[in-house]
Amino acid sequence: MLIELAIGDAYGAGFEYAADRIVKERNDLSGYIKHPRHDITPGCYTDDTQMSIAIAEAIADNDPWTPQALAERFVRAFKRDPREGYASRFYDFLQEIRDADEFLARIHADSEKSGAAMRASPIGVFASIDEVKDRAAVQARITHDTPGGVNSAMAAALMTHFFLHGHGAKAGLGRFLESHVPGPWTQPWKGKVGAEGMGAVHAAVHAVMSHDSMSAILRACIAYTGDVDTVATVALAAASCAPDVAQDLPGVLLDGLERGPFGHAYLMELDGRLMSRCRSLI
Ligand SMILES: [Mg+2]
Repeated sequence: MLIELAIGDAYGAGFEYAADRIVKERNDLSGYIKHPRHDITPGCYTDDTQMSIAIAEAIADNDPWTPQALAERFVRAFKRDPREGYASRFYDFLQEIRDADEFLARIHADSEKSGAAMRASPIGVFASIDEVKDRAAVQARITHDTPGGVNSAMAAALMTHFFLHGHGAKAGLGRFLESHVPGPWTQPWKGKVGAEGMGAVHAAVHAVMSHDSMSAILRACIAYTGDVDTVATVALAAASCAPDVAQDLPGVLLDGLERGPFGHAYLMELDGRLMSRCRSLI
């Protein structure tokens, strides 16, 4: 799950809010591209993956599921490996704060944006729907204590849960989500994706339901245009767990994923620990 979501994030980072022409010409999965304006090295992931790593570590190490413990994970993941790709105000905030206490004291958790959903996919490993929803909501409220922030995070977590815990063929994903979280999950998504969490997850659900391979899903996520690294992160996290999705991401994207201390090898190791926690919960 983590490797695939990082590939979606890193591939999408080259296309985030890029011009339609660039998306039309370059979205062919032949490699990572340099973003026309941002200074992110092709193949490097962004905030979506770094925050998903923080959540996955908390699950794998069986942390207490409290705002304090989770904020410690968020702060640690950033401080040990600061990187571009965060929204600029949140990036500055993470630079300024020293620890989880200061994070919790100073955060304004009134955003409807996708920050809580982009990191929620690993939570789907838990076996009970209520536990997935509760854990997704607790982590969401730390930074996005709004209906859209919380509901989009619950839906993103339930997407991976749906596949990991055998709730059926992916054609039923939207109906499953609609029976557990308010949202337009069975409706098609069309067009550009904005910064709101509900839109990003809605687009991801539609991409997964309308395509049968990882490659087609990734291309579809980018083709929406807009905040596509988050859409691709959420979609590929879920689709990587789906038995009815062909696992056909091109080798060039796996090989080109960053190799630093928290890159490819670290993601593989943490993915293994996350999935063994999942198996222990079935
Ligand atoms: Mg991002």
